[in-house]
Amino acid sequence: MTVLDRSARTLFLTELLSGLALTLRYFFKPKVTLNYPFEKGPLSPRFKGEHVLRRYPNGEERCIACKLCEAICPALAITIESEPRADGSRRATRYDIDMTKCIYCGFCQESCPVDAIVEGPNFEFSTETREELLYDKEKLLANGDRWETEIAANLAADMPYR
Ligand code: SF4
Ligand code: SF4
Repeated sequence: MTVLDRSARTLFLTELLSGLALTLRYFFKPKVTLNYPFEKGPLSPRFKGEHVLRRYPNGEERCIACKLCEAICPALAITIESEPRADGSRRATRYDIDMTKCIYCGFCQESCPVDAIVEGPNFEFSTETREELLYDKEKLLANGDRWETEIAANLAADMPYR
């Protein structure tokens, strides 16, 4: 670039004007940013968020305490204790997940033969204390009751690929 060119650009403020033109062009384009938390982006049906324990439509817990999820968890985050009920069925008496250890790999969900433990679509579960991230069975079942509609739809959408 010659000295003359540089002087002309400085004199006529061409760089400033082209910058303003660029701003004006984007001003009228659809915005790519979201006004979170009031607006949220789409989530894949395979999104791995907060864990839930699901029930059958009659209210019975799905989990049969087979402990496959506990065995496969690479972070050793799951602790299960079980005992047989009066009707002979085996159910978990304790189902804890240490969410501070969890790496959200989804292995627990993949290993479950009855779709009981599932990572749901909720990603807004930050807490102020570590203790609040030590989930027990009641907390996980309550999560399941809260998110069942969305989770059932996500599992149905993903079913052809499983
Ligand atoms: S998502 Fe992975 S790390 Fe977390 S509890 Fe399940 S198996 Fe363990
Ligand atoms: S959540 Fe599923 S894999 Fe884990 S113990 Fe219960 S039935 Fe077995």
